[in-house]
Amino acid sequence: MTTPDSSYEQWVLEAPGKLARRLHTPTRLDRDWVRVGFLYCGLCGSDLSKFDGHKDLTYPISLGHEFLAEVIEAGNNVTSVIPGDIVTSDLNFRCGSCDQCRAGRSHLCRDGKVGLFSNRAFAEFGDIHECYLLRLDGPAHKHLALVEPLSCVLHGEAWASPQQGDRVLVIGAGSLGSCMAFVLCNRSAGPKFEITDKSASRLSLIAGAIGSSGTPISEPTGEYDVVFDLSGSESGLRDACEHVIAGGRLCSMSHLDGRSTGEFLLPALTRRDVAFKLSYLNGERDTMQTAARLLAEHWSPAWEKILEVVPLERLPQAFEQHRESPWCKTIVKVSDAAP
Ligand SMILES: [Zn+2]
Ligand SMILES: [Zn+2]
Repeated sequence: MTTPDSSYEQWVLEAPGKLARRLHTPTRLDRDWVRVGFLYCGLCGSDLSKFDGHKDLTYPISLGHEFLAEVIEAGNNVTSVIPGDIVTSDLNFRCGSCDQCRAGRSHLCRDGKVGLFSNRAFAEFGDIHECYLLRLDGPAHKHLALVEPLSCVLHGEAWASPQQGDRVLVIGAGSLGSCMAFVLCNRSAGPKFEITDKSASRLSLIAGAIGSSGTPISEPTGEYDVVFDLSGSESGLRDACEHVIAGGRLCSMSHLDGRSTGEFLLPALTRRDVAFKLSYLNGERDTMQTAARLLAEHWSPAWEKILEVVPLERLPQAFEQHRESPWCKTIVKVSDAAP
């Protein structure tokens, strides 16, 4: 890939449900910044929330942070990557010096107001500050677009830390649910788990990937020591509350902000001594490294089958159809140059 010599196209969300192509003219690259050519980018639940317009947002905005990209130009001060490197993004800003950063909770950085700052990957090119990039080894396989969502799942999984003998339930076999299944399958000495989804198609795709490490189920039954709600829906979180055992652990990563008042939570959990976590982002950056290593060691053709790959020109359709998608995970092929 070579640097753009003129304007390039970028998909922009102009209003809820309205994605449009806009021309973007690159400026001179700042000394701490890196210009990348995007290869693949996954659709994330947070992108969908913005597309649906559930959050207080000022439009237009760009979307897409679960990307795999190739470095095409590095600013003068950049030391961690060089042109040709394959990179992904650690999406949240961290200052490194506030009390949260110093306490090992840099995903909660006091200066992290920029949020999902690296959202910009539904475009041919983009400029990113060096500190958001993670260099990956090896060729640019599309499943490496999963490093970021997988790192978020690792953060939640580490908190719940299911042990041998625990009964474990995963609600949802979509983007994050399938990542959680991948983690649980490849955790040393991890317990078996059950996974459920409203879509029979997703459930059968995930069944092929998890093999004997877990059991796909159409409905949860009874009580579970550890429940992961990755459904992205209020009904999934309600099911999680119903099926977590008193004294158990419930970890939800669903993006329900603005889509549920959550009023059912107190009646459902009070006097049950359930440890409840709304897991947020990927924790410390080392989860990114762990995610990259897990994918390098354990990704297989059986897992490849859970992925839907759509070309960038079909981005609006991919968003419109995503909540009903029969696939576990949708990855957008951003560049024709992607392998
Ligand atoms: Zn994401
Ligand atoms: Zn900080």
